[in-house]
Amino acid sequence: MPHTTKLIYSFGNGKADGHAGKRELLGGKGAGLHEMTRIGIPVPPGFTITTEVCKYYYDHHHRYPNALKAQVVAALGRMEKILGRRFGDGENPLLVSVRSGARESMPGMMDTVLNLGLNDRTVQGLIRRTNNPRFAFDSYRRFIQMYADVVLGIKHKVDGRSDPLETILDRKKTARGGRDDTDLTAADLEQLVAAYKAEIKSICGREFPEDPFDQLWGAIGAVLGSWNNDRAIAYRELYRIPHSWGTAVNVQAMVFGNLGNDCATGVAFTRDPANGEKRFYGEFLINAQGEDVVAGIRTPKPISELGQIMPKAERELQRVCRSLEKHYGEMQDVEFTIEDGKLWMLQTRTGKRTGFAAVRIAVDMVEERIIDKKEALQRIEPDQLNQLLRPIFDQNGKEQAHKDGRLLGKGLPAGPGAATGRVVFHADEAVQWKKRGERVILCRVETSPDDIRGMDAAQGILTARGGMTSHAALVARQMGKVCVAGCEVLHIDYSGRTLRVDQSELKEGDWISIDGSTGEVFKGEIQTLPSEVLQVLLSGSLDAKKSRLYQQFAKLMKWADDVRRLGVRTNADQPDQAAIAKAFGSEGIGLCRTEHMFFQGDRIQAVREMILADDEAGRRRALAKLLPMQKQDFKGILEIMGELPVTIRTLDPPLHEFLPKHDDEIVELAQAMGVSFEVLRDKVTVLQEFNPMLGHRGCRLGISYPEITEMQAQAIFEAACELRREGKNPFPEIMIPLVGSRQELHEQKIIVRQVAAATQKAYGVKVRYLVGTMIELPRACMVADEIADEAEFFSFGTNDLTQTCLGLSRDDAGKFLPTYVLNGLLPEDPFVSIDREGVGALMRIAIAKGRTKRKNLEMGICGEHGGDAKSVAFCHQIGLDYVSCSPYRVAIAKLAAAQAALHEKNH
Ligand code: PEP
Ligand code: MG
Repeated sequence: MPHTTKLIYSFGNGKADGHAGKRELLGGKGAGLHEMTRIGIPVPPGFTITTEVCKYYYDHHHRYPNALKAQVVAALGRMEKILGRRFGDGENPLLVSVRSGARESMPGMMDTVLNLGLNDRTVQGLIRRTNNPRFAFDSYRRFIQMYADVVLGIKHKVDGRSDPLETILDRKKTARGGRDDTDLTAADLEQLVAAYKAEIKSICGREFPEDPFDQLWGAIGAVLGSWNNDRAIAYRELYRIPHSWGTAVNVQAMVFGNLGNDCATGVAFTRDPANGEKRFYGEFLINAQGEDVVAGIRTPKPISELGQIMPKAERELQRVCRSLEKHYGEMQDVEFTIEDGKLWMLQTRTGKRTGFAAVRIAVDMVEERIIDKKEALQRIEPDQLNQLLRPIFDQNGKEQAHKDGRLLGKGLPAGPGAATGRVVFHADEAVQWKKRGERVILCRVETSPDDIRGMDAAQGILTARGGMTSHAALVARQMGKVCVAGCEVLHIDYSGRTLRVDQSELKEGDWISIDGSTGEVFKGEIQTLPSEVLQVLLSGSLDAKKSRLYQQFAKLMKWADDVRRLGVRTNADQPDQAAIAKAFGSEGIGLCRTEHMFFQGDRIQAVREMILADDEAGRRRALAKLLPMQKQDFKGILEIMGELPVTIRTLDPPLHEFLPKHDDEIVELAQAMGVSFEVLRDKVTVLQEFNPMLGHRGCRLGISYPEITEMQAQAIFEAACELRREGKNPFPEIMIPLVGSRQELHEQKIIVRQVAAATQKAYGVKVRYLVGTMIELPRACMVADEIADEAEFFSFGTNDLTQTCLGLSRDDAGKFLPTYVLNGLLPEDPFVSIDREGVGALMRIAIAKGRTKRKNLEMGICGEHGGDAKSVAFCHQIGLDYVSCSPYRVAIAKLAAAQAALHEKNH
């Protein structure tokens, strides 16, 4: 790294080297501090060490670039000048905080050190400056405790769990007969400092560093090191944040919220992050340091009470927050400290929010003319829309629970929605229970960043302590989990594995229900109902006018429809699924897997007869039994979808999937069918394949047994002709699976067309229809031009195309794929998000070749990727006409398609 590279960006006194646009280099927190300083908001001075330094540090065996030291000293010098204090000075010492700050916020995952610069000399200066020995020694002992944990790793030197310094503190408190830190005097705290240092020396074998510069370099190293601690890695994996980004380090002058009763610290949101309501919203603690709020150690007070205690600072805070929201045009999440009545801002960032809040804030901001519709569409993560479809508690069930006296208590409604599950107390247990298929509620006194995987595994999270901005609440909201925080009546006993409220006790494994919209906690299970959106759209049990949530959702969908180019269809096999899809605004069926209908009721009997038949005549007899049933299904779907296209695929899976596997099942079936056990078993054996996915399936079945395709085509066209006669205008698209050559499609198409002609003639009507193919084999992509001679549409079957392109069995990959993703051999699961370089490249070839033959060849995708937001964006880029996904992902796909269109315009 050249000597002249700028490794440090300073801010303070209204001037800043950086700005909001430098997130990549300064991290989110750093960029926010620089921007706030620039626009005249009171921010304590400081400097940011760039993310480039972090990258260098990891690329060079934990060494810093040569130029860093001098630049740190110079930057500290600038801070000293602004504040008139000196680092390490015994008279008037400059104290600093050292904090991490990645490009994307990773709440609580990395490390922080506060009050750095204190030692036996500078603590005297702090006493002189504040005239408050108790405060000075409290800051000193907090600093040592934090430093010992974060920099010296003292917990790990003991047993990884207990904090030996916390034990010393508890002993001291008990000796004073008190429970709180506030029961300790200045002399107690001074003794604690000495006791801490002695303990550190005995555990670490060396003195606690007295030199503030040693302290500073220790803290910088620890913060950089925390980028790669387990929980930060886990968090990045969960949120797909690249490990290569690195963190910035912010060194900033300390301001104190714990100097006395005209001091406070808190966090605020410019709007409600749980439901999106436009109200100033936050929490604070009088006489406390910032970490106390997030750590959930004391439950903070609602911000509405701040005005009564410190009216001037509260007005200033409101003013600053309003101007920040206006400046960024986005809901802000801020951290502040009030020192001796003066407000200081320590952070501003885009506030994390639930899906409910995301939709409401985006729509409200359009109506308030803060942003336009396009911006609103880009503000919501498509997957967040899932939360709007989640169940809520049945009101009657809840009332009954109240009547039965099952309400245990009320906490804060930190993450909306309803969750019922079994009580577990530890994150790792939540993960294990989930693996066993259990639904669990993770119940904790408070959560910490170590609990992240358990929180992810749980249906909901319940804490006894902590506010709306505690770690649990923050992370739950981001994950879209149901969460009730700070339910203080709960007594959680981890060792006894019980949760108690007065006389009621719940043990691990007992059922509990939490309402994250009201904060209520109930004993036992409560029935749930579909979400408001589903009640309006599907059951009609709620009037659209009565649901603000629905109205806002509908508005957003309309805006998405106005800008997207990509069509959105649905994969649906039955009329009821088609109805759901239609209600969500699906523009057609992109895949109807006909074989799914074969399993219903007694149809399987006819299917088996068809498979077991010895000759064509026998097969035809069995198929004749299936015909009316298939016809009925197709008619149902075609009728529901009106004039919209309905893509119906001919039989795809290998036939043995319809036969029993085990001897006892074969015996049973043989009896039912009146054939001998041996005959049936031999047939099963004959049909067995080593690689069924590459075996006798797809169009190969229709080639071997044309009468199957014939029957299915007949069912489709009879259904369509009947609807035509009823004055309707159905639009079937018949799709042939697993085609690898023009000839295969040609043969199947002849059958379909002959049946179509004969049936239309018999009914005396004309039906619009297309015959096309799935593109799900690499060969099909390479000869797509030839296939397009025959095909009137292509639909990419990216499930099979992924397995055949990567040579990766979709049924077996689960065993090793996670390791591949974890170790970076694959960026993500290619069955979830399209592998752009491989599968994507094949798709591009197929599109280009296909279009050489038919300029307007209709092209879509019906693999699972059609509901994955990133894959939808890719499908837009490569010029597909539509994506097809499961009914409940239609809204997600529409929003993702709108975002892709907007992204294209912007770039
Ligand atoms: C596909 O392969 O992507 C597809 C949609 O078909 P199936 O999943 O039924 O094989
Ligand atoms: Mg397939």
